Amino acid sequence: MSLAYIGLGSNLDDPLQQIRSAVTAIASLPQSSIEQLSSVYQSTPVGPSDQPDFLNAALRLRTALDPFTLLDHLQQIEDHHGRERHQRWGPRTLDLDILLFDNTVISTPRLTVPHRELHNRDFVLHPLQEVLTENQLLPNQIDLATLLASCEDNDLLRTDYRLTD
Ligand code: ATP
Ligand code: CA
Ligand code: CA
Repeated sequence: MSLAYIGLGSNLDDPLQQIRSAVTAIASLPQSSIEQLSSVYQSTPVGPSDQPDFLNAALRLRTALDPFTLLDHLQQIEDHHGRERHQRWGPRTLDLDILLFDNTVISTPRLTVPHRELHNRDFVLHPLQEVLTENQLLPNQIDLATLLASCEDNDLLRTDYRLTD
């Protein structure tokens, strides 16, 4: 079994509902179980700024799927949530990124792990911090506090929204 860390984001069509529904779909993936869910954060968009704020979260998934099969499933879930791919970093109903997968490093056109923007993004690092296990390594073995101190500022707010009842 492996531990995968998944980042969730949405800024269209009731983002909180999109993220809750994605969590339900991820919970029912084969050979997988969610071990921990982060809080829900609100952030201002990266890239085009004429779009609504985002909600973001992260979760830790125990899985026997390999990373590429996991990505297949995550992209299917995005499609089922009406994800349309127009503009890079544009508005979206649901974005599911593989942030980390054990301490595996993958560098292929289809999949890069750790996620290539992980270290830059406060809306990824803060939720990730809530679900990391103690022995999980970060890119280049840089500690989380150092990453948090140097990442971009997207006016991140931790909300009181709950992902489960
Ligand atoms: P960003 O990658 O900057 O977060 P994005 O999430 O908007 O941007 P997408 O349009 O969702 O980008 O994804 C583009 C492609 O990125 C996907 O088709 C997928 O093959 C590839 N990809 C590479 N690494 C990953 C990863 N770790 N998790 C998810 N997708 C990845
Ligand atoms: Ca993304
Ligand atoms: Ca993505």
